[in-house]
Amino acid sequence: MENKVAIIKCGTYDDGKVYLAVKESVDLLGGLNSFVKPGMRVLVKPNLLSAVAPERAVTTHPSVVKAVIRLVKEAKGTPFLGDCHGGVLTGTEVLLAETKMTEAAAEAGAEIINLEKLGSELHEGIAISKGIKEFDLIINVCKFKTHGLTILTGAVKNSFGMIPGMHKASMHRLYPEVNDFCEMLLKVSGFVNPALSIMDGVIGMEGDGPIGGNPKSIGLILAAKVPLSLDFVMAKIAGIDPLALPVLSLAIKKGFKPEEIKIVGEPLSEVILKDFKPPYTFAVLGTAKKYGFTGKIKTFLQPFLWKLVTIKPVIDNSKCQKCNECVKACPVKAIGYDKGFPRVDNKICIECYCCHELCRYKAVAFKKNLLVKIWLKRQNPKK
Ligand code: SF4
Ligand code: SF4
Repeated sequence: MENKVAIIKCGTYDDGKVYLAVKESVDLLGGLNSFVKPGMRVLVKPNLLSAVAPERAVTTHPSVVKAVIRLVKEAKGTPFLGDCHGGVLTGTEVLLAETKMTEAAAEAGAEIINLEKLGSELHEGIAISKGIKEFDLIINVCKFKTHGLTILTGAVKNSFGMIPGMHKASMHRLYPEVNDFCEMLLKVSGFVNPALSIMDGVIGMEGDGPIGGNPKSIGLILAAKVPLSLDFVMAKIAGIDPLALPVLSLAIKKGFKPEEIKIVGEPLSEVILKDFKPPYTFAVLGTAKKYGFTGKIKTFLQPFLWKLVTIKPVIDNSKCQKCNECVKACPVKAIGYDKGFPRVDNKICIECYCCHELCRYKAVAFKKNLLVKIWLKRQNPKK
């Protein structure tokens, strides 16, 4: 398969300009007509992690979704818009309304499909929405963001959204080790098999994403046929060594060849960010990974060294709205209540960061222990 990644500058969410940028990116891959044939049922799958406004940069922006729907219609396909969202308490209608997807679908002319209601089927023990069989083609419309567990979340991780509701939490319980979890992500991305991935990098998220970080102007639309290639280029743009990302390093071991990626559009060297802030966990997990301090070595060293650098989530009572989302979402039931507020039991916690990922109120932070602080200071004495 041709392995191109298109990079197009786009510094605004103006509908017209976004449409032109998305079209240009897809044209550089052969045009949407080379993917969508007349009469095809096409699922447009954004990142709808949580029921928050598009300005928070948590979810794919509606203008990017509208541009993709418009292109599908121009290619005479029938567009559908859908996702299985991450939260367990917010209904799909609220999610679609808050993220402005209801409006986007109505404006651009796509039918909204509730993937949760279609049910799921097991693929190698992983429950995936039956939606993957309902459509002739899936377009993955992902977001340029950081992530506490996987460092960045882009095209590959967006397919995890095809796992319905609480099945997502089961995956964290079944694969508590980050490398095993990423191996599962690669399988899911393969099963979902989007024909095309388009990334909303106009305003992405830096810092403690995928929900608690800060919006970051990046000014780019990216597109690729191969989700891994898109994520590789995203890491380069973020100024993060792609090998420090567990999904990418694992994929390379399994035969993914980043040297075969051909950049089209803007040259990569001109769009690399010099000041992109990775998540707090990156300093520890990324460095640990670089030195092979995970997997078997991690197991061997437990409980002596690893515990000293492990980053646990902690609830900030001053921000907590007691919505109960984190309590329900925790795959190992590590969160209970203490004096009226949720509290993490560190002995049970497997550091999957689902609670951090799903708290809309940024009330789940990462506990900064003294050893980690000293370590980070030594790595970057200027900070
Ligand atoms: S920490 Fe966040 S998710 Fe958990 S109860 Fe409080 S507000 Fe809700
Ligand atoms: S407390 Fe948070 S990080 Fe720990 S296992 Fe539960 S959801 Fe995962």
